[in-house]
Formats: sequence, structure tokens, C-alpha cells
Amino acid sequence: MGGVFSALYLQRQGWDVEIFERSSVPLVGRGAGIVTHPELRQALADVGRSAETDLGVSFDWRITVDRDGKEIARLKRPQISTSWNRLFEIVNEVLPKERYHLGKEFLRCEEDADGITAYFGDGTQARGDLLVGADGFRSQVRAHLLPEAQPVYAGYVGWRGLADEARFSGAMRDIVETFIFHLPPGEQIIGYPAAGQNNDIRPGHRSWNIVWYRPTDAAKLKRFLTDDTGREHAISIPPPLISREVIAEMRADAERLLPPQFRAAIDLIDQPFFQPIYDFETPAMAIGRACLIGDAAFVVRPHVGAGIVKVVQDAETVARCVGKGEDVVAGLKAFEAERLPMGRGFVDHVRKLGSYIRPSFASEAERREAMMYAAPDALMGETAVLDFLYRDEPPPYLRASA
Ligand SMILES: Cc1cc2nc3c(=O)[nH]c(=O)nc-3n(C[C@H](O)[C@H](O)[C@H](O)COP(=O)(O)OP(=O)(O)OC[C@H]3O[C@@H](n4cnc5c(N)ncnc54)[C@H](O)[C@@H]3O)c2cc1C
Repeated sequence: MGGVFSALYLQRQGWDVEIFERSSVPLVGRGAGIVTHPELRQALADVGRSAETDLGVSFDWRITVDRDGKEIARLKRPQISTSWNRLFEIVNEVLPKERYHLGKEFLRCEEDADGITAYFGDGTQARGDLLVGADGFRSQVRAHLLPEAQPVYAGYVGWRGLADEARFSGAMRDIVETFIFHLPPGEQIIGYPAAGQNNDIRPGHRSWNIVWYRPTDAAKLKRFLTDDTGREHAISIPPPLISREVIAEMRADAERLLPPQFRAAIDLIDQPFFQPIYDFETPAMAIGRACLIGDAAFVVRPHVGAGIVKVVQDAETVARCVGKGEDVVAGLKAFEAERLPMGRGFVDHVRKLGSYIRPSFASEAERREAMMYAAPDALMGETAVLDFLYRDEPPPYLRASA
């Protein structure tokens, strides 16, 4: 996303851009549900896609339910949910195809007084005035330029999956347009509408996206990352390789712990997968003629669904700060001055939202602070929204011990 939006924003400034993607096949079929924010609609409009573009599924209500599935709190919060796939499809239409190169794995770069050269795994290279490192969470640009910086595991995973609306029956049909929250002790589960297969957003063809956050210590994570052949994967494991035993365990726990809406949805998810949750803060975003944006720079826990907004804002800021390219290094320093505090603010705020997801607390004060974010008002008021970016004071539900 960052690579594509950077290219589009820079192109608007008159830059001659090329995009290099490691994957040798087109990036289609990524199924993750993405909750959108107004800032994303603005970015789409900026790069030439109408803000009216049919982005995804609209829904109005958020509810919190108890263990029996009974509603205990409600909040009106209109929102649109889309999928990674749909978003990529939308931007792909304005992408300069001849400038998008597949099968180009960045390995390293070298900078001199006149420019910067990137070297790729297939033996080719590319030279330019500016290198935007938008290569995601496991960024090789970052590993090359800032080898010391490493993500920190947050101590929990998010189990995810999409349940097809077409397979919903009975009362389940009524929930598909609702964002539902539930809090098992020390855990959190949310479910919200998302586009269905092939980005279908017609009623009856949509899906419901589940994320179940569960404390998972390092030893357990190691077991989760080990596939049925005994091979241990680093950081994350491809969904089809997750051990059958680990999935069976999760399903058994769902029966034991979750309200009926979530149990029914999980039953319908054929291929659940988990995402280990990490925090990462880069020490620098501008390194000479290179910069890091998006997940390469800051990995924010998923609770506010901010990854896409953060990366498109980084992309817009890079393009605005480097302008026509008179002084790229100074432009990138200005970009860094604007976005480094922003990225730190994102990570810090969202870390607090997830602070409740743990088996125990070091002190009563720590427990009180964490539990404030787990009250239904706070949970529904802060999850998947970016209000924190614009307010001077915390809202009433976060004020008690603020
Ligand atoms: C399951 C899931 C659900 C999510 N849900 C949401 C949500 O609801 N809302 C939200 O805002 N965000 C969500 N996110 C986060 C969001 O997808 C990311 O924050 C966002 O995509 C980051 O954009 P990026 O450009 O930094 O990295 P990415 O989109 O990850 O792109 C990095 C690209 O770089 C390529 N690449 C990697 N290494 C190399 C290399 N060495 N050379 C060349 N290319 C390389 C990769 O193939 C990839 O295409 C979710 C993420 C996941 C995994």
C-alpha cells in the first residue's frame, strides 16, 4: 500500500517513479478485512479515485455482548469496512502499470553524492534520487539501513478469519451488519462486516471478520509457529501450515469461552489463522536519500486499524516534503520531523488499548489503568477509530484515572 500510494503522490509532484515488488505474482486474493477511516477516503480522492468509490460494507452500530450473547452496551458509529483486496483493486486502476515491477526483491542500497542505487535479488539494479522503503513489517530496507532495530512481541496473538454471510443461518443473519465486542477475562474478541469473496458487498454475499486477541506466552507462540512437519517458522506462519492441533485447541476454547454469535461464526471459518502482535518503533525514518514509511517504520497493534491510514499519510508527507526534489535529504529530514512523533504517538496509544490482554498484572495501579480501556464505552469508543489524533483531552470514559 505504501509503495503504491507513494508512487501516486510523488507522481503528482512531477516525479518519475518506479515501484519494485518482491512478489513474482500479482498481489491479489489477500483476504483481510480492513476497517476504513475518513482519512483513507481523502487519500483515495488525492490520488484520483473518487471519494464516492464503492469501498465496502457500511454499518452503523457497535454492541458489546456478555457471555450469553446478550447486548450490554450499544454505540452508534457509522463506518465502512472493506478488504485489502478491494483497496488494492481500487488503487491499481490508477497505477502506472509499466512502472510496477514484480519479482524485484530489494537486497541493499548504496548512496553517493548524486543519487542512490538499489540492488535486487535477480541481479538487477535501479538508480534514482530518492528511495522510499515501503516494504512492510519485515522490511529489508530497514534491516539493511538500521540493522539493530527489532520488533518486540506484545505477548498475545490475534486469531482471525472471515465467515461467509451466505452460510449464516437463523439469528446470525441479523448480526452481519453489526460490529460486536466481547471480553472474555484477559482476552478480547471483535467481529465486524467485511466484503465477501471477490470483494462482493451485496447483502447475502458479504462476510463477517473475526479477531480474537488471546495472551500467548513465548513458549506457546513457539509451538503455534511450528507446523505439522515440526518446522518452526520465524515471526509468523502461513495460514495453511498452522498445525491442526493448534487450530483444534482454539476451536475447543471458543466453545468454552465465547458467546453464541462468535462460536457460530468461528464454526464457519474453514481456515482460521493467527497474527502474533508486535510493537515496533524505528529510531529514524530518514536515512540520507532513503526513508522508511508505513509498517517498515512503525508497527501498530491492530486495535485501531490504522496501518493503512498511517502509511498513506506517510506517503503524502514524503511527497509534500521532498517537493520537486531540489534538496531530497533536507526534504526527508522535514518528513521525519513530522512523522516520527506521529508514529510514536500511534504505537503508544494503541499499546494502551491492548494493555488489558494479558493473564495478570504487576500491580493494582497497572490493572486499573489497563481495565479502563476494557470498559464497554472505552472499548467501543476507541477501537477502529482515530479520534485520539484530533482531541486535546481524553474522553470521559478515559478520564477517571487519566
Ligand atoms: C491480517 C491483517 C489485517 C489488517 N487489518 C487492517 C485494518 O483493518 N486496517 C488497517 O488500516 N490496517 C490493517 N492491517 C495493516 C495494514 O495491512 C498494514 O499496516 C499496511 O498494509 C502497511 O502498508 P505497507 O505499505 O507499510 O506494507 P505492506 O502493505 O505490507 O506492503 C509491503 C510490500 O513490500 C513487499 N516487500 C517486502 N519485502 C520486500 C523486498 N525485500 N523487496 C521488495 N518488496 C518487498 C511485500 O511483498 C509487500 O507487497 C492489517 C494487516 C494484517 C496482516
